[in-house]
Amino acid sequence: MSAGHHAQPNLFEEPAPNAQDSAGHPLVARVLIEDAALELDYSIPEALAARVQLGTRVHVPLQRHRATGTVVQLLPDSSYHGKLKPIHDTIGTRPVFPENLLKLAHWASTYYLCPLRIVLRAMLPESVRKKPESFLSDSHLTLTRMPDAAEMEKLHKSAPIQARIIEMLRDHDGPTALSELRKELPRATQIVHVLVKKGIVDRAEVRVERDPFHDEEFIANAPHILTEEQGVALEKILAALHPSSLIPHPFLLHGVTGSGKTEIYLQAIAKVLEQKKTALVLVPEISLTPQTIERFKARFSEGHQRIAVLHSHLSDGERHDEWYKIHEGRADIVIGARSAIFAPLENLGIIIVDEEHEPSYKQEESPRYQARDLAVVRAKLEGCVCLLGSATPCLESFENAQTGKYDLLKLTKRTDGKSMPLIRIVDMRLERRRTKDGFSILSDRLRIAVEQRLEKQEQVILFLNRRGFNTALTCLKCGETANCPDCSVALTFHKTENRLVCHVCGTRQLPPSKCKACGDPSIRFGGYGTERAEETIRALFKTARIARVDTDTMQRKNQLRDTLRNFRAQKLDILIGTQMIAKGLDFPNVTLVGVLNADLALNLPDFRAAERTFQLLTQVAGRSGRGETKGEVFIQTYAPHSPAVQFARHADYEGYAEQELEHRKQFHYPPFTHVVLIGCRGKQQTLAEFTLQSFATRVKEKLPPETHHGEVCPSPLTKAHGQFRFQWLLRTARVRPLLAHIQSVLASMTLPEDIILTWDVDAMSLM
Ligand code: ADP
Ligand code: ZN
Repeated sequence: MSAGHHAQPNLFEEPAPNAQDSAGHPLVARVLIEDAALELDYSIPEALAARVQLGTRVHVPLQRHRATGTVVQLLPDSSYHGKLKPIHDTIGTRPVFPENLLKLAHWASTYYLCPLRIVLRAMLPESVRKKPESFLSDSHLTLTRMPDAAEMEKLHKSAPIQARIIEMLRDHDGPTALSELRKELPRATQIVHVLVKKGIVDRAEVRVERDPFHDEEFIANAPHILTEEQGVALEKILAALHPSSLIPHPFLLHGVTGSGKTEIYLQAIAKVLEQKKTALVLVPEISLTPQTIERFKARFSEGHQRIAVLHSHLSDGERHDEWYKIHEGRADIVIGARSAIFAPLENLGIIIVDEEHEPSYKQEESPRYQARDLAVVRAKLEGCVCLLGSATPCLESFENAQTGKYDLLKLTKRTDGKSMPLIRIVDMRLERRRTKDGFSILSDRLRIAVEQRLEKQEQVILFLNRRGFNTALTCLKCGETANCPDCSVALTFHKTENRLVCHVCGTRQLPPSKCKACGDPSIRFGGYGTERAEETIRALFKTARIARVDTDTMQRKNQLRDTLRNFRAQKLDILIGTQMIAKGLDFPNVTLVGVLNADLALNLPDFRAAERTFQLLTQVAGRSGRGETKGEVFIQTYAPHSPAVQFARHADYEGYAEQELEHRKQFHYPPFTHVVLIGCRGKQQTLAEFTLQSFATRVKEKLPPETHHGEVCPSPLTKAHGQFRFQWLLRTARVRPLLAHIQSVLASMTLPEDIILTWDVDAMSLM
């Protein structure tokens, strides 16, 4: 049996070699129209010949309008018999998709069964797509001649602002920016215009970059002397980077938290830059913290201008400018979240995926790509090194390392020689029996541990992966729970704004004073989120300085950065937060980490629930004891004997992976199969279910071998945004034949109106 693990590149159809006219230019361009799902041939006017290349965006005539598209093929001739219309113009002078990115797009389009134009659209930031080359500009002003004293005196009387500007330019060293003048003199633009006409001032237009880091300083940070383990790992990477090396296998760098993985990335990148090549670093969105970026900018501080950053907290303008920095070859290093896998870097030397196990590398809307897998594919296309790093590799990658598809590099020790923190399990079932109302946020043991740290002026992180105040509003009499009218989830009570909030669709409503079903006033909030945890903890530790980090409190730009800085500077004692604080942060004075409820992830109806829980607990535990004092971790759980909790407690990744893989193999789950999740949703419940049933029946008629499937059933999230949701899960050891079959069924089906069918290859979320 051939087990399909990660997507392996299987490049179909190389573009045909370019046919050329007598001057060496191709004659016909096949253009994929952006808004119309059309591929049409156009002729290439002589004047544009040099600019029209594979991957160039162009304006073309379409019926009586102008459309935008991308050149996806260059041909000697067209199979179209009429006269071809000419391309109007190109957008920019260079292709926006370098050749390898175009190949990657084709690969993703086939593998994820997603139209090429949707993939190409996802590859460009919206601001670049909709407003290409919309740079901010400024004018640089210099004096062409200084008026003599008499002239100045006249000006002072008749036109004092002109005189003032002239003096400012005279006293300023070098050119003065018009935007600077305007801060003092709001009317400067018009008056400068007059001065330019008079021939006194010279004005030059310059492009201004919106630099997200303009107000930061970077203190140079020299490479560390590597530990022995780090040295061995880096050696192997450097050997693969050597120009004489064949295209290497991807590396899986499995290193415990604090073992110095990032240091290895930095030194590998230094080598890549030395070779005049470029580096792409993917980091999960939530660990793309200022601290992470600072580490890179500080290491390459002389060239930090040459680092581009792409993530969702940038403004549109900043993202536009960062993208052009890459496009125009002004960036050697790109650091970004998932979509940065499409950064138009050329001459790549290495692609690094940090925290490769993170589910956020999977995009949950079309194109539903997995950036880690695309990294492997892209590296192969580019012929460069691919380095996947994690303290808790996903089982797919671990299995690939076991079978030799990946080369395993291991770091088993922390760089500081510290032992891993002591992990204690708190059985909340016992705790519940002790408390009056059978419910406690902080167990006695954890409370005492926090007190001790506060006394010693050490810091504490308390982790809870659920925001809000309470999880549900339940009637004690009839058991009715307040649910979102449009989604099948309980509303969460947010106390500060006194609203019930749906975490799926965002609907907000006032909490009722009595049960909507039976009218009884004895409704009660159950469960708790970070907001309530914060309230409880503030009440317990009155003098402690406490901050909460979740998407509710971190709305303002830079708020997260400032809070983390304050915590690092020890202006805060306790940080309470969701997974926003679970990853990658390094605080030397934190000696205690508490996981308030380890079971939240465990109870999800997902075959990866245990894997996620193990990863989360291990990551969170890694936040403790990074400094001089040994760290301690308390895990509060109602399932103290579950393997995920037990293996995490002993920091035993291999033990965990072994038993979980056993289980996965037995039941034909990834990494031994690929999962394809078919979803169907619509406002009419029976129609949605029926549509998916008929689809499933058709697929089952000719199911490829080694394919397993369940039944069509309601999704765990049965209703969202007013639509009923159904799903059907397929698992197959041979994904390509299954995908081809699914595609043919899709092509032959007409969907009822208002019904949406989705398919998710290598699905991560089964909700
Ligand atoms: P990881 O990415 O594996 O969690 P980091 O790269 O963040 O680990 O390293 C943890 C800490 O150890 C960081 O503060 C880093 O600067 C430091 N460090 C890394 N390598 C070394 C080394 N060889 N010697 C001393 N300190 C190191
Ligand atoms: Zn809702």
